[in-house]
Amino acid sequence: MQKWGPKMSLLEVRNLYINLQTHDNVVQAVRGVSFSLEPKDTLAIVGESGSGKSMTVKGVMKLLPKSGRIDAGQVIFDGRDITNYSDRQMRGLNGSEISMIFQDPMTSLNPTMTIGKQIMEVLREHEKMSAHAMKERAMELLGLVGISSPEKRFDQYPHQLSGGMRQRVVIAIALACNPKVLVADEPTTALDVTIQAQILDLMKSLQSKINTSIILITHNLGVVANIANKVAVMYGGQIVESGTVDEIFYQTQHPYTLGLIASIPKIHDDSGTLKTIPGTPPDLIDPPKGCPFAPRCDRAMKVCHLYPPTYTQISDTHCSACWLQHPYAQQAAGEEGHHE
Ligand code: SF4
Repeated sequence: MQKWGPKMSLLEVRNLYINLQTHDNVVQAVRGVSFSLEPKDTLAIVGESGSGKSMTVKGVMKLLPKSGRIDAGQVIFDGRDITNYSDRQMRGLNGSEISMIFQDPMTSLNPTMTIGKQIMEVLREHEKMSAHAMKERAMELLGLVGISSPEKRFDQYPHQLSGGMRQRVVIAIALACNPKVLVADEPTTALDVTIQAQILDLMKSLQSKINTSIILITHNLGVVANIANKVAVMYGGQIVESGTVDEIFYQTQHPYTLGLIASIPKIHDDSGTLKTIPGTPPDLIDPPKGCPFAPRCDRAMKVCHLYPPTYTQISDTHCSACWLQHPYAQQAAGEEGHHE
């Protein structure tokens, strides 16, 4: 097993490609994604549905659908190259070192088992603990995720809890074995707005209490500002801009990120209209040869339709895949004119 030097990130995804085989086509769902996660980081991966954000983390965790496979790239977790880990090897990691929470708490919980038993089940699988210690730990976890009267809740079934409480239980189960990484895939989408805010607050408060790094997958850039320290914006199976949360919100480079920011509902806007980015995401069976955002981009130049933009490093932590940041962009724009 290869070990990496002390400077290695907790999780490093390098140039990952994931294809999905449909009946007679191949969908290029993830196309050369790279990112890293350090201890205590909260990385938000943001993008519209179909941008490849969920598929990327499913690839990392080997939870791809049967039709999906990693075609190229590497996943290095805690110094181990897990790209080719077998299902059995991944079972040893999933739930204990890397944990995942999904959108809908109802499908993640077993309706026929009390929530206390469900937490203890995970502990039994991954930790050597006495029954008494497991029960204590289960109570502690219920308290950690903000469930009042844990002793009473311990013996209740999922249907006896509200949607928000159920999602708290799902988070408690995911944290049971003190994972190094917690992946939350749209953890609030199935909940109503007030409960969404409570679960996001909980995730934020957990950051100061536990040593787990978080990857938050969301289509809503609005929810990440208060939670994440790093953001990766995905479009058409690629990361088009990544940086610290301040760089993404205050030094935005990529026109798609600008569009996402403009789509965040404003508290004081009572016009009732929700801004969206006109157009539709690219067809990943036959991705465009130039910039995937070009057909929707109001700043597109001729070069954008011809060649995929290369990454421009804006700072040590900030980069963008857009021809506008390329040193020759001004010249190209001047020569070619805008192409809409
Ligand atoms: Fe728009 Fe061109 Fe930048 Fe793509 S590369 S986002 S089309 S300006």
